[in-house]
Formats: sequence, structure tokens, C-alpha cells
Amino acid sequence: MFTTRFLDLPPLQRAAGTVRLPGSKSISNRVLLLAGLCAGSTRIDALLASDDTRVMLDALRALGCGVEHDGDTVRIDGIGGVLRARDSDIFLGNSGTSTRSVTAALALLASAQGGRFAIRGVPRMHERPIGDLVDALRPLGCVIDYTGVAGFPPLRLGDGAPHALSLAEPIRVRGDVSSQFLTGLLQALCAASADHEIVIEVVGELISKPYIAITLNLLARFGVVVRNERWARFTIPAGSRLVSPGAIQVEGDASSASYFVALGAIAAEHGAPLRVEGMGSGSIQGDLAFVGAAQAMGANVLLGEHWVEVSRGSWPLKAITLDCNHIPDAAMTLAVMALFATGTTRLTNIASWRVKETDRIAAMAAELRKLGAVVTEGADFIEVNAPAAWRAATIRTYDDHRIAMCFSLAALNDAALPVRILDPQCVAKTFPDYFETLFGVVGARPNAVPIITVDGPTASGKGTLASAVAQRLGYHFLDSGAVYRATALAAMRSGTRTDDEQRLAQLATNLDLHFGPGEIRLSGQDVTETLRLEEVGALASKVSAFPLVRAALRTLQLSFHRLPGLVADGRDMGTVIFPGADLKIYLTASAATRAERRYKQLISKGISANIDSLRAELELRDARDQTRAVSPLRPAADAMLLDNSAFSVDASVDAVLTAWEQRRPFKAT
Ligand code: C5P
Repeated sequence: MFTTRFLDLPPLQRAAGTVRLPGSKSISNRVLLLAGLCAGSTRIDALLASDDTRVMLDALRALGCGVEHDGDTVRIDGIGGVLRARDSDIFLGNSGTSTRSVTAALALLASAQGGRFAIRGVPRMHERPIGDLVDALRPLGCVIDYTGVAGFPPLRLGDGAPHALSLAEPIRVRGDVSSQFLTGLLQALCAASADHEIVIEVVGELISKPYIAITLNLLARFGVVVRNERWARFTIPAGSRLVSPGAIQVEGDASSASYFVALGAIAAEHGAPLRVEGMGSGSIQGDLAFVGAAQAMGANVLLGEHWVEVSRGSWPLKAITLDCNHIPDAAMTLAVMALFATGTTRLTNIASWRVKETDRIAAMAAELRKLGAVVTEGADFIEVNAPAAWRAATIRTYDDHRIAMCFSLAALNDAALPVRILDPQCVAKTFPDYFETLFGVVGARPNAVPIITVDGPTASGKGTLASAVAQRLGYHFLDSGAVYRATALAAMRSGTRTDDEQRLAQLATNLDLHFGPGEIRLSGQDVTETLRLEEVGALASKVSAFPLVRAALRTLQLSFHRLPGLVADGRDMGTVIFPGADLKIYLTASAATRAERRYKQLISKGISANIDSLRAELELRDARDQTRAVSPLRPAADAMLLDNSAFSVDASVDAVLTAWEQRRPFKAT
């Protein structure tokens, strides 16, 4: 997952391959709550691992449910409708489904059985309405207090005393602000185990009906078949009880699929479609209907029971006018597809966007305009016209995963401009690996994946600098010295003569070297520390002078040049390996400073050292690196020279990032 302040997406141009979707958020959270409320133990396979499911799992633990993890399988031991904990403070982050449905269930259980629970979330959750749900629950005898602002979380449910609930009369709930209120009530009342029918009447036109269809479908799997009369009146049969189905498989998330369906429509060639696995015609999620909308815009689609294949059909895409009430989440992706369409795309009946993770109508309009689109917004609609001229934009994401994901598609613009996504980690709400998954199936335009090189003499601090810059930008990091050091270590271990160029080159070609987060493995063994030994560095300096060794290690180094970008450090990164790099730094420091740094480093590791001999060794290595026939150490003609003798690491990092920013097309925000 990218946890950087921003992620720059290079201009992208084609998509192909297969995406395996993460589990559906809507199904995961409903199944979790039902498994927690019902009698018995439930095995849930392919559960979504994300912020929203994490808070739901925490809530279940707070209720006394057993929770056991095994990979993406979770086993929940349900409470069978009887509270095991009576007093708890439950934090539900920014998860609307969790907050609404846990509130409904706990309000009933706590009030009937004498519990007392606090419900709270992030500040945005405290701005998302819950009054209609509270108004539906209070007449039943539920004790609910607003502990912040009336109509919004945080809430206190129950007062510690048991109360008689009246469930005999029809229960009325509004359905025109959020369908999550009705979902919450349905799940909670099915867990109430009344010996008579329970009737829920919807006041106002029910929005987002497909989400209620998911709720009803899952309730049926937990043993309660609710009668649905025209989405206006729902009846829970007398004597209903939630019972575990034993095991349940979560299907892939259809809303998450929308980004890849759109990607295929924009950038997959006819004969080589993008395949999305985990949802298809057999799906119970309403956002499956997005596929039809994408088709109407020009996507070429083949739909299987559990997969969909998409490629470009009409190009440019065709603008559509669509009532999106049934696909509110996936409709955001249509608004971004409109950037690639001829004509005006008009998405209507989307008032619910205004009470989601952020005011999505305002947010989408503001960010689409930054790209150059012409946008009109109304209380419950948005109209989008493609940009006449694309602009490089910095996209704010408002802590809204869907904004981050759908705007990534703007990187497919034909003006070959990059797109900056702020706070990319917000995708963790439903799709923590979204960007990695995207990078697995898209191609960048030629020379579009940025490279920053940091070359310089030994102990100049280039490794520290380069890895810090890579981390700040979310780019890959190549420590090319480690590649030569690994060759030297392999030679030492195999007893290869250090003047046998042929054998050394062979060793280099067959190097079984893997770079993981914070560790380097050679032939399966962790050699991170060993590679840093002085004798390994000294031998690396010798073997790296052989042209055949250098040639043998070239492909391995080039393979680090991948989306979304690369920071590479070494001696010849900017001159030989990546001569077309976008920013080249030549880092140096006086020999005295470098010897002192190396001295402190060794002493801190408990290794005794002599500063004068270290300096002599450094200078010898500099001389060898600078005078060798192939790839001698020297600054590239277009390198930025940075003497960091008097700089802290942070100051050097800032200097490089400032130079990088000056080369980027983004305006300050
Ligand atoms: O940078 P580091 O000290 O880890 O590099 C070890 C040795 O590998 C250097 O002394 C240098 O001779 C060699 N090297 C190289 N080209 C690179 C990186 C390192 O020749 N790109």
C-alpha cells in the first residue's frame, strides 16, 4: 500500500491481463454482522481485508464474538442474539455500513437486555446523518442518546437497564437518504427473534435498492426469508431466527470492479481484453449494472458467471444520460469515463453522493475541473464534458477511497500528462492494494516512468538519500552497489578467483538475488547485513571493474524501472544504466567527512576502526572507481551536483525533492 503524501501516476496507455478483485465490502460487512449476531460458528472465505472490515471485526470482538483469522478466511463465533458484553466503546472509523447496522443491532439488543454502548467514528462520520435510523428505533422502546450533535453520531445506546420493546406495530423508516438505515433495521430485527411477524414500512422512495437486495439475499442465507412488497414494505416472518449457514464465500467487489471495467473500455485492445475475476453474471451486487452502463458508453464486454472481460469498443467513448440511483458508488467511475467521451455525460438521481465519505458531487466536480473538464453540478446530478485541453492535475481525495481510485483512470489521457493523487492510502477503506493491482495491468507510455539517479563516491550517503527519496515518492529503489556486493559475496562463497572475469560474469548472470522490503536475499539467505561488510565492499570495487561483470548485471538493474517510478543509486546510474533519467544527482562530500561518517557507522555497530586508514581506503576506492576503463565514476553532464558535507540527511532529501518538484508539471496546491 502507498502511504506517501502523494502518488504521481505517470501517463498510462494500455491495459491487459487479469485482475483478481478483493472481496465485496458490502457483502463482507453484512456477513460479518450476521455471523456475529446469529447462533453458531461461521467460516467466511475471501473476506475483504480493509479499514471498513477491520472496524467491523473490532465491533464484533467488543460484543464478545469469537474472531479467528486464517489468511483471508475468518471464523466468527456468533452470540446467538444474547449480549455477551454489556458495556463497550465502539469505534467504527468512516464506515457507513458498519455504523448504521451496528447501531441498529446494538440499540435493540442493549435496550432489551440492559446494555450500554458508545458508538463513534472519525470526524467525517460525525457529519453523516443517522437521525432517520434513530427516529425509527426510538418508538420501539430503544434508548438512544446523541452525545454530540442531534441527528449524527456519536451515540449512546441503552442505559444499562432492560426495557420492553414493542415490535408489534409496523416500523417506519425513511428510505430516501440512505438505504443503510433499512439494511441496519432489517438485520437487527431478524436477530430479534420475535414470536410474531415484524413489518417495516419505508417512508419515501427507497434509494439504492440493489443494496437492499444484497441484504435480503444474505439474510436468506442466514435462515430468514424476508417478504419484500414493492420495496415499500418488508415482513419478517414470525419465529424467524438467524442461523449460521456454516460457511460462506464473499464474492469480489463489484464497485471495485468498475475501475477495471472502465480501464478495459479505455485502454484494452480488442483481441487482448482486460479480465476481471471475482464477479460476473452470478453476482448479487447491484454494481454489476455498472457493466451495462460502461457498455452503453462503448465498452466491449464479455460477461461470465464469475468474471468479465472488457476491451475498447467505440472510441472515443460515447456520452450517456443515466439515472444512477441504483449504482451510486460505481457511477463515480462513469463521471471519470466521461473525460474520454464525446458529448455531455449526465448522471442523475445521485443526491446520496452528498452524504457519503465526502460531498461527492462537489468533490467530483472540483477535481474533474482541475483536469480541464467542463462540469455542471446540481443538487442531485452532475454533467461532465471532456477537456478541450488536458491539464496535469493534483487530485484531492477527501479521505474518499473512490475518488482516489476513479481519478487514477485520468492517467490514461491522450495528452500524456501525469496525474497526482493526494493521500493515496485512503484506498485502504476497501482496496488496500488498488494501485499495485492497477500497475500490474497497465503499461506506461514510452519513457514515461520517472527515474531519479543518485551517483557518487563511496560513503557519500547516496544510499540513505536515494532510499529516503524513493520512500517519499512511493517509487522503487535500486541499490546498485548491493548488486556488485552480492556478486562479490557469491565469489567469496564459491571460492571463485577474483581475477577470473569469465567466471565472475557467469556468477553475476546467475545471481539468485531478491530485494524485499528492508531485506536482500541471496540464494534464499538473508544477506542484508553481510553485504555491508568492508571486505565485501572492497571486493565489489574490484569485480565491478570487469566489463563482462558490468554487462551481466545490466538487465537486473534495468528490471527495477517499473511503475510508478525508480530512484537508483550507484556510480553509473545517470551515465550508463539510465542515461535518460529525469533527474540526476551527483552526491559528494569531502573525503574527511565521508571517512568520519563511515567511522561513526562502524563504531555504532561495535566494530573497531581507524579513521586514517578508513580515509586511505576510501580514497583508494574512489581512485579505482574513477579511473577504471568501463563506467568510471563521474558526474553525468546534466547532473545536479550536491555536496552534502554540511547537510543533514533531511536537508539533502529536501534539496532533491525540491529539484524534482521543479521538474514536475503540477502547480502548487
Ligand atoms: O555503493 P557501494 O559502496 O555499495 O558499492 C560497492 C562497490 O560496487 C563500489 O565501490 C563500486 O566499485 C561498485 N559499484 C559500481 N557501480 C555501481 C554501484 C557500485 O561499480 N553502480
